[in-house]
This record gives sequence, structure tokens and C-alpha cells, in this order.
Amino acid sequence: MAASYPEFIWQNGKIKPWAEATVHVMAHALHYGSSVFEGIRSYETPKGPAIFRLTDHLKRLYLSAKIYDIVIPYTIDELAAACREVILKNKLTKAYLRPVAFRGLGGFGLSADTPTDVAVATWEMGPYLGPGVLEAGIDACVSSWQRMAPNTIPTGAKAGGNYLSGQLIAREARRLGFGEGIALASTGLLSEGAGENLFLVFDGQLHTTPASAAILNGITRHTLITLARENGIEVIERDMPREYLYLADEIFMCGTAAEVTPIRSVDGKPVGEGKAGPLTRRMQQWFFGLFDGKTEDRWNWLDPVG
Ligand code: PMP
Repeated sequence: MAASYPEFIWQNGKIKPWAEATVHVMAHALHYGSSVFEGIRSYETPKGPAIFRLTDHLKRLYLSAKIYDIVIPYTIDELAAACREVILKNKLTKAYLRPVAFRGLGGFGLSADTPTDVAVATWEMGPYLGPGVLEAGIDACVSSWQRMAPNTIPTGAKAGGNYLSGQLIAREARRLGFGEGIALASTGLLSEGAGENLFLVFDGQLHTTPASAAILNGITRHTLITLARENGIEVIERDMPREYLYLADEIFMCGTAAEVTPIRSVDGKPVGEGKAGPLTRRMQQWFFGLFDGKTEDRWNWLDPVG
């Protein structure tokens, strides 16, 4: 994120200057990871700035909160309005939105019923994994850190505490000189990237790891599955062993931040021809086409900001 911050943030129902959106050091979430959040993007489209799949992201926020008994004292419509307002106030168009709900100050016990604080921040963001990666692709590695076992911490919740796992995976990858890390599940089978879902291409078909492989059920993943099937590409959700990373014709990662990022090598071995493959390119065209009008938005995924 840029060193200069946007002017305004939405916090607990009010627009405030960025510097005034503070929390107490004894807020529950700071100590115990008890926050749930979303990452959403807005794009400049021929019909004006629009937020991509806003309601779907906010629905996931409420479901993540439900898992942890975090009560969000606003309706989805109110938070959707807050998302639009904070973009407008900051005069942004192509932006990243970060709604977060967390256990605030009001108890130090693990099961304390603290009040829920809610904020929505926004800022300008380019390609998450670095400049030029959408074209050139990244070099990825398999992480030495596994994802959480299914009966430990639920990966289906987008909760703050889960991102300790993501930090270990992403930081190890960067330290070793890779663009991103790919985690295995506790089963030893493929899971996902530190903050991205994973697609492998075999013989023109897309293969992606299933919800049971310790992944976050990504909204970009769902978007790409829908777009691929719409265009006659077969998509298979399945468990895959690690060596499939070395056998695949093409691999890409996806997520709100990462969008559709090609993977050109894994563990130093080239993926296919060592550059973004043809199906990856088509997936990028269909995906980014939603924002430049070349892909018809038949699903009403674009929510106008204004
Ligand atoms: N997995 C993890 C762990 C993530 O943090 C993200 C980013 N939210 C994703 C997958 C992709 O999810 P989405 O497409 O909904 O952004």
C-alpha cells in the first residue's frame, strides 16, 4: 500500500479522516485475531466506476462473522452503502475496499462478548504481486508451511487469525526469492496460495482444488469457473497431489487482489513453456473483459458506485 493514505475512512457509521480511525490497544481482535474482513475491488467501467460482486463479498463477511459469533450491527445494505460512500469521498475509481468487523474493547477473556467495531477503508491498488506480473507471471514455490487441518481453524472464514498462516507462507516465499508461496493441506495434497486460489490446466481443462482442501472459497475462483463454463471450458474441482504442479500445462492463481496471475515456474521448474499459457490468457481476457465491457456482465456482478 502507498505511503500516502487516502483522506477518509468509514468507521462505526461515520466518515472520518484517516488518522482519526483508531482503536484501543486492548481491543480483543488485536490480541486474539478475532476479526473478519473482506477484500473487494472497484473498477472503471464503460458505465462508470463499479464495485465487483459487492453483495457476494459482504455475504461472505457475515458468514465469516457467524462462524465466530461476531455480531455485525449493520445490515448488508448499510455496509454496501458505506463501501460506495468511502470510494466517493476519496474520489477513487479503481480501488481496493477493505471492510473489517472485529471484537473491540470490552473484555479480555477469550469468550468475552465484546462490542463489534466495523470499518471500511479503501485505497488505490495496482497488481498485488508486483508490477508486470499479470503479463509476465510469477515464480512460485511450495511452502514448507501447511494450511490448517479442517478441524482446527476454519479456512472457509475470512478471519484475521487465518492470515498468520498466509503471512508465514508469503514471507517465506519472498525471503527465498519467489513471487508467492503455494501451501499444501494437512492431507499433503494441494491447497492454495497464501492469499489466492489455484488453477491448473491439463489438456485444455481447468482443475482447481476443492473447498475441502483448506481453501478460502474465493469469489474470483467462482467468477472464473462461471466464465470458463460459459465459454465451453470444462472445470473440475478435485484434490491434486503436489507433483501436478510440475506436470500441468499451465497454472494461474486468482483472487480479488491477485486478479488472474499466471505462474511461470514452481520450485524452479518451468510451468509448460515457462510463460503464461493460452488458456490463462483467455481467462484473463474474459475476466478483465467484465470491466472494459468486452465480457457481458450477465450476472449483475458490477455494482455501480454512484
Ligand atoms: N484464498 C485466500 C487465503 C485469500 O486470502 C483470498 C483472497 N481473499 C483468496 C483465496 C481469493 O478469494 P477472493 O477471490 O474471494 O478474493
